[in-house]
Amino acid sequence: MRLKIAVLAGDGIGPEVTKQATNILRAVAEMGGHEFTFVEGLIGGTAITETGSPLPTGTLDAALECDAVLLGAVGDNKFNALPPDKRPEAGLLQIRQALGGFANLRPSIAYTALSASSPLRPEVTKDVDILFVRELLGGLYFGAPRWWDRDSNEAINTMRYTRDEVVRVARVAFELAGNRRQKVTSVDKANVLEVSQLWRATVTEVAKDYPSVTLEHQLVDSMAMHIMNIPRNFDVVLTENLFGDILSDEAGVITGSLGMLPSATIGGAVNLYEPVHGSAPDIAGTGKANPLGAILTAAMILRHSANLEQDAKAVEAAVNKVLDAGYRTADIARGQQPGQTPVSTQEMGKLVHQALAESIDRRQAMHAV
Ligand code: NAD
Repeated sequence: MRLKIAVLAGDGIGPEVTKQATNILRAVAEMGGHEFTFVEGLIGGTAITETGSPLPTGTLDAALECDAVLLGAVGDNKFNALPPDKRPEAGLLQIRQALGGFANLRPSIAYTALSASSPLRPEVTKDVDILFVRELLGGLYFGAPRWWDRDSNEAINTMRYTRDEVVRVARVAFELAGNRRQKVTSVDKANVLEVSQLWRATVTEVAKDYPSVTLEHQLVDSMAMHIMNIPRNFDVVLTENLFGDILSDEAGVITGSLGMLPSATIGGAVNLYEPVHGSAPDIAGTGKANPLGAILTAAMILRHSANLEQDAKAVEAAVNKVLDAGYRTADIARGQQPGQTPVSTQEMGKLVHQALAESIDRRQAMHAV
């Protein structure tokens, strides 16, 4: 298997966590005899410092020639005074738009070892494994007209979807559910919004092509409560842009730390993979950053761009193993609770690497028998 990955480490903790993620990808390639090449590029504040632009043309051109883009994080307080289109974050928005991914995938998983880190009770979060599929290029964030008239004190945004936009993201959700627990929950506000009525009718129609997958519809307001009350009832959750933005953040509390959340945006020219967290300038350079969100993002590259499901699962199992053994970066440590070993970013990366190597060795030994 050959894969060319653009690595845009970015600012703050971006380079620290990305390094651990690429180490894991290198290990998977080495152990499985795959050829992964990494092309480094500038983005965000570091790109502004070196080139004057948050997304230099060279970075975008290189990214478009790769099979996947792994992005760390952007954002640097040094540039806070710049107008929004000149700031590091503009680079992120530009690359997302240029790559054109329309389906944003965000897993929300309860790790048993971290059940005490979630504000929800362990019996509520037990066994939760939700995959959000959020439409990313349409809806209220992009619809026209949009304006704010300061004279009349009136503002408008438009929630708009076409049938085709709903069909393509719904297909992603059903395909993914087919390889999971065979259930799609589509979220809308069809009791009030015509856009949601189109959404619901279209998703219902698409579902007919996936008879083995169960479809249910939920209104967004009740869904917000269900996610907190009975999260284990959900497998794939399909949403439009705004609802998905809010609900996937809400479900992040199930996992317990921002540092643990991966994401992927697929369906465009090149898939874009990034941990959910930002550049965390408050802890950059201190070795406190949790690299597991970035490492789990690497697992998503293996799953969605390399079709190496077994290796993706092996990386996720290695993360679980390290957590079960009590290793904790500061964000997931629980006070003075016994059985925990505090570790740095680099140590956490090495531990996952070690656990992964052991499991791949075992797999290969079993194949050899
Ligand atoms: P943030 O996600 O960077 O940090 C929020 C809090 O979570 C901080 O206390 C931070 O220390 C902690 N945190 C985040 N990731 C962590 C990790 N991996 N391990 C341990 N702790 C972690 O959000 P913010 O503070 O609102 O924003 C900081 C900068 O990042 C801003 O410039 C913002 O615009 C940018 N940002 C970028 C992205 C992105 O690149 N995708 C996303 C969000 C924010």
